[in-house]
Amino acid sequence: MKEQMQAPTQAPAPAPEAAAPAPVVAQAAGNAFEAARAPVPQVVPLPPPRPKDLGTSPRDKFDNQFAAQGNRTIDPNEARWRQLSPDEAAPYLATPDEFRSQPGELGYHTTLGGQTWLWGKHAQDPKNPLRARDMMGPNAKQVFSRAIPTANPKDPKKQDVTVLNANGTTSVLGANKHGMTELPTTGYGFTTHHRNDVKVKGHAQPDQWGTAAGVARTMNMMADYRTMFPGSSIAIGDLSTDTGNSPLVQTGSNKRHSTHYQGSQVDMQYPQGKGSTNAGPKTADDLFRTRSLVRIAEQNGMNRFYTDPALHQKGLYTAPGTSEKGESHHRDHIHIGQGSGRRAAPAPAPAPRARASRIRRRR
Ligand SMILES: [Zn+2]
Repeated sequence: MKEQMQAPTQAPAPAPEAAAPAPVVAQAAGNAFEAARAPVPQVVPLPPPRPKDLGTSPRDKFDNQFAAQGNRTIDPNEARWRQLSPDEAAPYLATPDEFRSQPGELGYHTTLGGQTWLWGKHAQDPKNPLRARDMMGPNAKQVFSRAIPTANPKDPKKQDVTVLNANGTTSVLGANKHGMTELPTTGYGFTTHHRNDVKVKGHAQPDQWGTAAGVARTMNMMADYRTMFPGSSIAIGDLSTDTGNSPLVQTGSNKRHSTHYQGSQVDMQYPQGKGSTNAGPKTADDLFRTRSLVRIAEQNGMNRFYTDPALHQKGLYTAPGTSEKGESHHRDHIHIGQGSGRRAAPAPAPAPRARASRIRRRR
């Protein structure tokens, strides 16, 4: 994660042609791809052996199911992104433009934040095939999709989000003048709903924005969820406004989220069972998926959860150090965040007292 958060030391633009050494020029892009897939030492650590008497408590049952789902092997014919080592990246960076694969073609490569990613069907060690869990979390070297904060070309103080899409292309979510980035309407593992659904002074309030880090974290969490549960997606609701404030939510009279600053917090539908896409507000019908979402969120740095009180009573199996609370108005959606999500200190001037008291707060 740390590497990805750094401002890139080199632009994602193609390497200068002058740097291209002669030997590589003769190779077609396909050959370069073959050459790079040869030295792939796939080190997949085996899970620790489990004591035989486990698997009886609900917690053990969940852990076993989660491990089984994560140990699902990835079809080697499924194309994906692979992070190249500097040695592996060198021939790609030296390939002249005319021999390069185009976005979406196997063998396409792009460099983001100093890391080169290659889109392709990557060779696997037959004795240690790639597992779903190898493709999840901030440290995964192979992914179906990944959102990465990248330098804004115009303003060094801002960051955009560059997305490695699951079809071998990339897209850039640019920062606005407040340094905020908007979540796309759909992505790998998510859709959006109730987008800009509250009118403030006659105008729809933008409500799915966040910092580059916050938006990228949310997208990566959803991509991991889909890697774990192929074909699944979850509808995402409010993040922050386009200025990084907590949005108002429409529930009869206007209520303001109290903890949605900077897009560090996100509201979403509960995962629904059997791989279905959930479109409207529904309560959790699949405890295993909901617990898995929480576990995946934690792996992506999330540490705050507000849920249906019933789920809270059943235990969401959050890791030590995370905050988890059951609240009645989270029956139809789960709130996942990093940190408190409150306005960062020093706080700007508080809203006028009279107005603040009329707006009931909601997380
Ligand atoms: Zn919320």
